[in-house]
Amino acid sequence: YKINKDELVLLEELGKGQYGTVQKVFHKPTNVTMAMKEIRLELDETKLNQILMELDILHKSQSTYIVDFYGAFFIESCVYYCMEYMDAGSLDKLYGEGVPENVLAKITIAMIKGLKFLKDELNIIHRDVKPTNILVNRAGEVKICDFGVSGQLQQSLAKTHIGCQKRIQHEKSSSSYTVQSDIWSLGLSMLELGTGKYPYPIPDKKIGMFAQLAAIVNGVPPVLPADRFSAECLDFVAQCLNKNPQNRPTYAQLLEHPFLEKYKDADVDMKSWAEQAYSSRKDLLKQT
Ligand code: ATP
Ligand code: MG
Repeated sequence: YKINKDELVLLEELGKGQYGTVQKVFHKPTNVTMAMKEIRLELDETKLNQILMELDILHKSQSTYIVDFYGAFFIESCVYYCMEYMDAGSLDKLYGEGVPENVLAKITIAMIKGLKFLKDELNIIHRDVKPTNILVNRAGEVKICDFGVSGQLQQSLAKTHIGCQKRIQHEKSSSSYTVQSDIWSLGLSMLELGTGKYPYPIPDKKIGMFAQLAAIVNGVPPVLPADRFSAECLDFVAQCLNKNPQNRPTYAQLLEHPFLEKYKDADVDMKSWAEQAYSSRKDLLKQT
């Protein structure tokens, strides 16, 4: 089934990223509420069609840990990507002062299962693992989005938006990006989720891009506070942040790590957590 723009009713803006806007939309023929991401690109029709073709493999693959793909279309060199609407939003807006360890464990399990699915079933690496790309719904489900499915889209984005990267990740450039880089980003995301802030200074006038890169490459990796997180949890993050990519564990090994073993069968009420995090987020928005 092909989605076309006339069948969609625009509801509200969900957020803005580097490449465009994400909107909540209602698809009339199917009665489904979706999230529609607009990606601005300067491309000819051939390349745009190639992107649509590459995105098509998503129709054949589904996982509970991956945000569902409904379809894509283009209008005047903009690609519109329609996906499952996640009604509690992205983790960056939900983690507050930091999530408790049991919630962090459940989020981590979902992230690894999603990333492992992409790798094993579709042979793709994510390339942009971070809290804004981990979405939650009020049923308490955690799913990943914005992975690099389409090589052409990836390439075109890199060309059109050179130097727009907000976060530097070592090894990020070009072909040296590997599954181990995603594992590094998983470790950084866990630090951010656990502490409520990004673990490195964000580059600005005082601390430039170069200083941030130097801190990431040469500095000692940051750690979670030991008074709120167990030794197993700290060790898990340390292994993901190993300076040598070859020494980082695989997804299968991470799933067997004592930290995740401990919480694998634990009953964590993710639904209540998501609802509570979502409502404190709304309260926060009202204050400002
Ligand atoms: P960047 O451009 O640096 O990757 P980003 O991930 O925040 O940052 P977008 O991917 O454009 O940028 O998304 C913008 C915001 O829209 C996200 O932060 C998220 O809060 C919201 N969003 C994206 N997809 C969905 C979705 N499927 N359901 C609900 N909200 C979404
Ligand atoms: Mg995103």
